[in-house]
Amino acid sequence: MDKILIANRGEIALRIIEAARELGLSTVAIYSEADKNQLHVELADEAYCIGPREAEESYLNLPAIIGAADISNADAIHPGYGFMSENPHFAEVCEGHGINFIGPSSETLQLAGNKIKSKEIVKSAGVQVVPGTEEAVENKDRLKAKAEELRYPLILKAAYGGGGRGMRIVKDEDELMEGFTSSSKEAQASFGEGAMYLERYLPNPKHVEVQVIADEDGNYGHVGERECSTQRRHQKIIEEAPAPGISGETREQLREDAIKIARAFNYTSLGTVEFLVDEDENYYFIELNARIQVEHPVSEEITGVNLVKDQIKIADGGELDPDKYNNFQGHAIECRINAEDPERDFLPSAGDIKIRQLPGGNGVRLDTWIYNGITVSPYYDSLLAKLIVSGDTRYDTITKTISALRRFEISGVKTNKALHLDLLRQKEFRSGNYSITFLERFLGGSGREA
Ligand code: ADP
Repeated sequence: MDKILIANRGEIALRIIEAARELGLSTVAIYSEADKNQLHVELADEAYCIGPREAEESYLNLPAIIGAADISNADAIHPGYGFMSENPHFAEVCEGHGINFIGPSSETLQLAGNKIKSKEIVKSAGVQVVPGTEEAVENKDRLKAKAEELRYPLILKAAYGGGGRGMRIVKDEDELMEGFTSSSKEAQASFGEGAMYLERYLPNPKHVEVQVIADEDGNYGHVGERECSTQRRHQKIIEEAPAPGISGETREQLREDAIKIARAFNYTSLGTVEFLVDEDENYYFIELNARIQVEHPVSEEITGVNLVKDQIKIADGGELDPDKYNNFQGHAIECRINAEDPERDFLPSAGDIKIRQLPGGNGVRLDTWIYNGITVSPYYDSLLAKLIVSGDTRYDTITKTISALRRFEISGVKTNKALHLDLLRQKEFRSGNYSITFLERFLGGSGREA
């Protein structure tokens, strides 16, 4: 491998450019017309405009991306997260063109993208899944019958879903019928597939996920688990590692089962096995994310591993040393700082960035694409920066994160910084024992705590 095309934008594009550079590889950026002033365009060795601002015509434009790879003679493509990263067809086209797709094989992407099939594979591997329908249900009478069998409350999910879209909690038959039509439409519009399935709704679980890594020779490793329960509308806002609210025994079991699951998928590259853990620490697989995730840095900070570098090395035929990964130190927290307006129900906020100061110092990492004067456009996701703070203990890390957040001082767009400060001060968060209902309860309730 000599040259990597990065089929993405924003902080992850910069992260990949840096990792590639450390490995002595050249980099190619692609960008939309709205992104010509972005840092990834400037920092890559070459850059190609691949279309207008609309993602469908640029970052999701398969022929244009492959064309840029051909013209630049790139021999590998890193898809980052979102956009083309979990698209089996894209991986297949890369394979057909002799381009090294930095991720799992198109077959694995196909399996992992089908949530119903994934649950079947996991069940056969002997790991529990959330009880639910074992196939997509289209007939309304069958859906009603299945719902009775599973018992309400239930959660309707898109078979090929992601990002919380098309997902809906239903408490009775009326809600199910109403939800089915609208969720299925939403899924059809977002994923091109309207197939839906039902799962039992767990009332108060934690979202805990394990980061696995696997090479092409069947060696598997993990860098431990992450706690990602601080979510709004099923979207993560704060992540931490190691997961604070579970016993040592559950932690070990989750890690072992994640490897078992990766093996069952014949997985290669970086991947994340997501679980829900209930109040009695029973845990259930929900999905396998077949790509690098936004929150990967917290695992890097507690292990000292550069996951993106290792992902590239493995894609280039490198062998994984599983022992390298089983080495944990301290604690790490990530806050996703988004350009959103808390006063207007977290609507994305656009504008020209003005920076007063940005945090730094010992154990403070800021993965961001912003600079003074850059425009935040409304066309892409609202992530401005990931503040990743590490410390010896969880308590130290929380304190340090608060002071680092205070130094994130920008204007020009609204951000969710104040929300982060509020959440980190909550007793419930500080106890380490919080669930996926924590943030929504906080926003619905009276708010601040000292
Ligand atoms: P997506 O792929 O759309 O992100 P996931 O299946 O990964 O969907 O679930 C996202 C989030 O939705 C989870 O982290 C959790 O907060 C919530 N969730 C998913 N399944 C259930 C369930 N069965 N019961 C309760 N909450 C759930």
